[in-house]
Amino acid sequence: MPVYVVGHKIPDSDSIVGAIALAHLKTQIGEEAIPARLGQLSPETQFILDKFGFAAPELKMSYAGESLYIVDHSDIALAPDDIAEATLLGIVDHHKLGDLTSDTPLECWIRPVGCSNTVIKMMYDFHQVAIPKDIAGMMLCAILSDTVIFKSPTCTTADIRCVEALAEMAGIEDFKALGMEMFEVKSAVLNTPMRDLVMRDFKNFNMNGVKIGIGQLEVIDLAIFDQMKADLQADIAKLKQEEGQHSVLLLLTDIMQEGSELLLISDDVDLALKAFDTTTVDGKAWLPGVMSRKKQVVPPLQKVFA
Ligand code: MN
Ligand code: MN
Repeated sequence: MPVYVVGHKIPDSDSIVGAIALAHLKTQIGEEAIPARLGQLSPETQFILDKFGFAAPELKMSYAGESLYIVDHSDIALAPDDIAEATLLGIVDHHKLGDLTSDTPLECWIRPVGCSNTVIKMMYDFHQVAIPKDIAGMMLCAILSDTVIFKSPTCTTADIRCVEALAEMAGIEDFKALGMEMFEVKSAVLNTPMRDLVMRDFKNFNMNGVKIGIGQLEVIDLAIFDQMKADLQADIAKLKQEEGQHSVLLLLTDIMQEGSELLLISDDVDLALKAFDTTTVDGKAWLPGVMSRKKQVVPPLQKVFA
């Protein structure tokens, strides 16, 4: 029986490429694995798949009775809904340790690096399996996406060395140009329904029993949002009503200015803002240097709600 490899809900490029790359490795070492996904592809991920000639992994939401590897998270809230009825074979991740657990011994590769695909490259090296050219290209793109072309504070030397090695394997000479091309695709937000933008990279967190939703949109120039902020704020307010979070945050990240504008709707604005040492004007605040949800937004919020 084949096993599955799947990333998190609302999959990003790391989750999709990670599922493909890890499934290929597992299959090569004798464990037939199928990449899968828990949601629709973002325009950025579609760009990567098209560029390297790959089809989207199978859309599969239910895993009861199946065996699977999880990539790019270890949180129940981000995993398949029925994961408790599946056999968890392993976790490959680069986030804080979440609340997933297993009934049987599992393989665990978790490293504090900028991208799951950096960890997967380490796994290929460990097993001495060659990475096919096109998978190497996609892994490179996933790392450039997660590390915001090395600008994110989550980026490590291991990620940079990994991209350099993958670029050589994939025959990509100017990987930074490819990274910018990818972020231009990501920056195309005009003529998109507000809810699609809010949900494009959105995660719900359970912070000590308090539900916090955090979305992020990374663009090359924040000015693209100038006419849209009021509508985005109205939509996160609506989302909060529908899903019942304590707070919903939307980070509009400018990758060139290296900071984020925070849009916030909260039951307790003052409390939520304690995390950021700032005040909001009309529910908005500029957070200089803040690029990473994982490293600069989730930890301080978690402290506040501890
Ligand atoms: Mn991810
Ligand atoms: Mn990731």
